[in-house]
Amino acid sequence: MLKPSKANIWASPDGCKAYPKLVRLFPNNKTSIAAEDGSFSHEIAECLLSNLNPSVGGGDVYDCAKLYADEVLSYDFDELHIEDEVHCNMIHPSLKGAVDCWAVKDDTIYIFDYKYSYTQVEAKNNLQCICYVAGILEKIGMPELNMEVVITIVQPRGYHPEGPIRKWVTTVNDLENHFNDLRYAASLAMSANPPARSGKHCKYCSARHVCSTAQEAAYNAIDTLSMPLPTYLPDKALSQELLTLNKAKRAIENRITGIEEIMYSKLDNDIHMPYHELQYKKGREKWTIKPEMVAELGDAKNLNLRKPLQVLTPTQARKLGLEIKDSYTKRDEPTKTIVEKRKES
Ligand code: SF4
Repeated sequence: MLKPSKANIWASPDGCKAYPKLVRLFPNNKTSIAAEDGSFSHEIAECLLSNLNPSVGGGDVYDCAKLYADEVLSYDFDELHIEDEVHCNMIHPSLKGAVDCWAVKDDTIYIFDYKYSYTQVEAKNNLQCICYVAGILEKIGMPELNMEVVITIVQPRGYHPEGPIRKWVTTVNDLENHFNDLRYAASLAMSANPPARSGKHCKYCSARHVCSTAQEAAYNAIDTLSMPLPTYLPDKALSQELLTLNKAKRAIENRITGIEEIMYSKLDNDIHMPYHELQYKKGREKWTIKPEMVAELGDAKNLNLRKPLQVLTPTQARKLGLEIKDSYTKRDEPTKTIVEKRKES
């Protein structure tokens, strides 16, 4: 099966067509805490959109879900399709997935995708949402080709220069080239021998421990790292060198985390490894009783077990509507980080 949510891997020009097949053969059966938080926040969002009371009414997972739900509800649609499964047969019969939310109003298709992750996701040319458009078109029947499409990504966490809500307005007609590219990518991905291509996406691939392409990339990276660094590099070469080294670093990290996963399972099963063993560190001890009871226990022995009063940050306070005098807050010195440009200048 092909998933629209992974189209950025199997359908993007620098992605990996072998990813769906390899992940099917070597699935990841573990769920990470981040994935569980993401699912929980999606459940809260679903409740908010369906006018149901979510199980929590505050905290980061709730605040993020609320931002997404408020954006969807601001359109005042007659009918919302929430977590709706769509089949994208016009791309490939194996392609299907659930859209976070979609609606049609005034001859415009609206697609909302809620991201709880930190990795930046763009609305423009978003392959996952373009797959959804194909599935929605099948549901609503053949539309006018100039029907408008509005793709909205709501990603409250992680910084993006355009803010947490990004939109891309296009038309069904203008998506035709994307549909063709997706058809071609899907047919390659579902072929007997889909081509593999290593890259940043290997980090999310549960087959990276067995993948010869990822292995080769890691070994090439090791060769790159062992090359002597010239004493002088012109600016363009310097910038290129940093790009190459970061790529090499990622290839090696992908390989290490893949190998570590197998190694954990072997060592957990008492299989002897010549150069590695498991080391256990004590987990953090936590109270199992309520904070008030902890404080009372301390009071009885004349010990203050209370923490100093904790308050929200100025940004959080402003979000709640507080006006703050300039002299009440100050900013730390800005920190500097080198990041890769989105486009070469
Ligand atoms: S490890 Fe990377 S190159 Fe190999 S199948 Fe997975 S995504 Fe493709």
